[in-house]
Parts: sequence; C-alpha cells; structure tokens
Amino acid sequence: MSSVSSYETAEHYFHRAADVMGLSSNMRTLLLTPLREVKVQVALELDDGQIGTFIGYRIQHDQARGPMKGGLRFHPDVDEGEVLALATLMTWKTALVNIPYGGAKGGISIDPRKLSQGEMERITRKFIDQIHDVIGPDKDIPAPDMGTNAQVMAWIANQYEKFHGFNPACVTGKPVELHGAQGREEATGRGVAILTRSFLTRLKHDVAGATIAIQGFGNVGSYAARFLHEMGAKIVAVSDAFGAVYNAEGLDIPAVARHAAETGRVSAIGGASEITNEELLTADVDVLIPAAIGGVLTKENARHIRAKYIVEAANNPTEPEADDIFEERDILVLPDVLANTGGVTVSYFEWVQNRQHFRWELSRVREELDKILDESFDRVWKVATDKGVPLRVAAYILGIGRVGRATVLGGI
Ligand code: GLU
Repeated sequence: MSSVSSYETAEHYFHRAADVMGLSSNMRTLLLTPLREVKVQVALELDDGQIGTFIGYRIQHDQARGPMKGGLRFHPDVDEGEVLALATLMTWKTALVNIPYGGAKGGISIDPRKLSQGEMERITRKFIDQIHDVIGPDKDIPAPDMGTNAQVMAWIANQYEKFHGFNPACVTGKPVELHGAQGREEATGRGVAILTRSFLTRLKHDVAGATIAIQGFGNVGSYAARFLHEMGAKIVAVSDAFGAVYNAEGLDIPAVARHAAETGRVSAIGGASEITNEELLTADVDVLIPAAIGGVLTKENARHIRAKYIVEAANNPTEPEADDIFEERDILVLPDVLANTGGVTVSYFEWVQNRQHFRWELSRVREELDKILDESFDRVWKVATDKGVPLRVAAYILGIGRVGRATVLGGI
C-alpha cells in the first residue's frame, strides 16, 4: 500500500499543473478549499441485534460550473482525506469533459462484503436521512462508486423522494427500471476501453493483439476487459481482492466473467495460472490497467513495472513518486482524470434524461459518450504536445483552467 495519503497525491498533481499555469497562491487556495464537508453518524441495529455506528461523509468541493457530482463509496478505507481527494478529482474531471457540474464525493467507512442486503439498505437510508438536505438535482447528485451499485442508488432515490417528492434526477446510476440510463453500468469500463484504443492508436500501436493486465474485476475492470477483448486485445491477466489469473495467450474474458459471477472470484478458472496481485502489476505487457483501489502504484513497485503504458481506470492509483519514476522511464500514463470519465459522463446523460422525462436508446448514449471522450482525449493530447508536459499535467491544466475561469467570471 501507498505511504502517501490520497489527499497529498491530489494536492501534488494540482500544484504540478498550477505551476505550469502560473496560478497565484491565492487562486490555488481558493480552488483547493472545499465548499462544504459533511460528516455524519450512521447508526442502526444490525441483523444480530448489535448496534452498529458508522461514519458517513459527503464532501462538496466545488460548484463554480454547476451542481456538484460524484460517487458514494462504501469501503473500510474511506476517511475524510480520501473523500476530499476524490471530491477534488471529480471537480477536474467534470470540467475536463465539459459537463455542467462541480465535484463532490461521499462514502461510509464499512465493508459491504460483511453486510447483509437488509443491513446495506438500512445503512443507505439512514445516511440519506442525514444528508438529504445538502444533496439534490440542483445541488449535488450522488452516483455509484466502489462498494455501491444500482440497487443502492434505487434506495437513495426512494429515501430522498420521501422528503422532497418524486425527482429521479437526485441520483444517477439507478436501475434502468427506475429511471436509470441505458449504458450507465458499462459506461466507465467502456470509456476506459475506448480511451485505451485512442491512446494506443496515437502511439502507433494497434489495440488488436495488444497485451493487457487489468487489476480489479469489479464494475470498471470487468467491462473494460470485455470491451477491450471485443476490440481484439489480449487480456493476459486479471485480478480481484482474492487473487489473480494469467494466461500468456490471452484469457477467455466471457468465460472469466461467467466464472466470477458463479463463484464470486476470478481465481481457479481452468486454463490459467494463479499469480499474485503484485505479479499482475509487474507483468510483461503492453498496457497495465489498475481498476481497483487507489495507491497501488508506489515508489516501491514503480521500477519493477514492465508495462509500456498505464491506463488509470481507478481513481488515484499512482502515488506522485511512482509517477515521476514512470516519467523518467518513459512509461506513458493515461491519467484517471481522463481515463475513467465515461461513468460520470453517462451519469450526466441520465440526469438530462430524468429532467426531460425522456429516454435515450443505448446507441445514442454510446454515440454521445464516444464523441465527448474523443474530443477530451484530443484536447488533452494537444495540450501535452504543445506544452511538452505529461498527459496528467495537460488534463489538470484543462480542468483547473475551466474551473478557475468559471470562478472568476461568476464573481468571488
Ligand atoms: N464514481 C464515479 C467516478 O469516480 C462516477 C461518478 C458519477 O457518475 O457521478 O467518476
């Protein structure tokens, strides 16, 4: 695990771009200071009759460009610093892809794997009881993140509506049966695949036949694997919290997905060898895609990474010193702030549909998503080339620049 906190990482990347932009220290303080931090008690009776007391967060970083937007994470590592780091990242992401939102993030420090479905529902509803006044379609719109899914979003909408009346635009990532958008579930992983293809194409490397290792086989990793497999890439390794599997000839991704759905893990699938998560990270591949928790690429393992390119499907997977080592070693990184924007972009489409009470076909969702991702990729590439900076710095320059201009135009 990383020895650097997620917030130190977020600040470091901000300042690196702010230095190139020549931003004043007052402007940096203004842009970094969160608008509001909410920390609440989430207490309830667990199935065994014990009292469970958990801490829930909703951190609203910036609203210069619109209502705040960002996921809700249920994970034991959730703490104030991590939520703030992720909220900040959402501000730059929504600005980079130019959707009319600011940034926020929330979470509860719990292990969803240890909770029953009933406990999950009660915790979610209790959390919304505590924060319903600070969220809403024109204020702050939650969405899924690690440990939450469409079912959790359905409970959120239902609980929010008990206070405020019918308003499905109060949360995105809902089930399609309850005003969710076609293609939202696949969106982050599909976006990762599309951007990986654009990235490789720009580097004169064909996605068909490219060898790829993916860390994480949750919502993001599994859809990224599926779409890259369909594009003809060779996914040689995938992992989850229990272990990793490897096949130099390429894994049969639909079979891995079936196996994971049946057994709850990717390990022990026939025709692949078992490797450790660390071996997956250092596998000899063209592309490494971290698609799980943050802080996995550290100064300790950065020198052992053998991938030529890294695509950050996860949020904050690379600590600053590892990023410097990759730069020195000419390992190109497609940063999180661009690579995983497919999810929030389709969340935006869901919110637009909810507000218009109108439904888009899957083909329209995919087409509009591809357009935004292609444009965003091209812009980031151009800034990186023009200014001679890494893609992460270029992406932050674009995101921070938009937020800074909106802040000044709106009036402080
Ligand atoms: N949790 C996702 C992210 O980190 C999606 C956020 C959203 O859809 O609002 O980008």
